[in-house]
Amino acid sequence: MLKIRGLSKTFAGQEPAQALDHVDIDVAEGQFATILGPSGCGKTTLLRSIAGFEEPSAGTISIAGREVAAGGRSVVPAHERGVGIVPQDGALFPHLSVAQNIGFGLAGKPRRERARRVAEVLDLVGLGGLGARRPHELSGGQQQRVALARAIAPNPRVILLDEPFSALDAYLRQSLREEVRNLLRDIGATVVLVTHDQAEAMTLADHLVVMRDGKVAQAGKPRETYFRPCDIELARFLGDAVVVNGEIPCSAASTSSGSTVSCAFGELAIGSWHGQSGRCDVLIRPENISVRGATDSGSLPGVIGTVVDQSFYGHDGTLQVHIPQLPEKVLVRVMGDQAFDVGESVKLSVDRAVCTYFGPA
Ligand code: ADP
Ligand code: MG
Repeated sequence: MLKIRGLSKTFAGQEPAQALDHVDIDVAEGQFATILGPSGCGKTTLLRSIAGFEEPSAGTISIAGREVAAGGRSVVPAHERGVGIVPQDGALFPHLSVAQNIGFGLAGKPRRERARRVAEVLDLVGLGGLGARRPHELSGGQQQRVALARAIAPNPRVILLDEPFSALDAYLRQSLREEVRNLLRDIGATVVLVTHDQAEAMTLADHLVVMRDGKVAQAGKPRETYFRPCDIELARFLGDAVVVNGEIPCSAASTSSGSTVSCAFGELAIGSWHGQSGRCDVLIRPENISVRGATDSGSLPGVIGTVVDQSFYGHDGTLQVHIPQLPEKVLVRVMGDQAFDVGESVKLSVDRAVCTYFGPA
């Protein structure tokens, strides 16, 4: 449904900024794609280029098989692309009612049809009956729903959402996120949502695209990207991790199952390994580390360390553990009722690791 090839965008000016650098992205019909990246990596520029509000410097964009930008030029204007966009700040017209805001993209349609469609999408986003209100008479979450309703009203081929939940408080963000995902799935929409929030990007995505400095760093299913990151930097961006030196024995390389890596935490499973043997960086996620008191009986092998910091979040918590042979403190997740004090000796056991790339030989 959406095919982007070699898309680049440089903003002219005293200090020219290359916002997009040879970006390739494919989004299939009905797919929910999320673009994840830190602030300034080019997410908004990407969405605005797809929508037709930004002229690319190079590359092509095709929507439903039709080139809308090619050779670094926009060839189909924004209003003919069949794209609905929810901009970063919602951008509702303050002087128009909710119904008028939603009806905005339906100009040119007969009045009766327009009113019917407005009522239909208002119901769809759970705001039936609020059409006469002004945006300032709505909560932040309701305003976001209106912005979404306005984008979907003309039945666009592709719906673009620019950090739609970032202005909302944590509880609302979570519930609206699920609601919006279900709603867009139900109507079979093809969606591109951009966010700097890792958890949001991973929970929503059928297809996850991680961006870095205007480039696509990695694209694929969220699970594949999380468990097979292309490098350490991306792995750390997707979630907490400790990285240690490791060695993959010759016998383990190229086997189809049960490979291991040896590192400061012992011999760890890495699943099937198709890389070479030799030195590598071993990435360990907090969820693969279990913690017990150092004097706890039991035969599980482990490494002894000292708790140097602890945080309590209610249902769970985290510990920072110093292990003498490691340069980096190890973050461990614990259940909320698992009490460990700062200064206490603990034993960490690791069941699984991710190997990312080979260090210098
Ligand atoms: P994001 O949405 O990921 O935060 P943006 O797409 O807004 O990133 O910006 C990417 C880069 O392009 C930034 O370095 C930003 O300063 C620059 N940029 C964005 N819009 C403009 C513009 N209109 N003029 C000049 N530079 C811009
Ligand atoms: Mg942005």
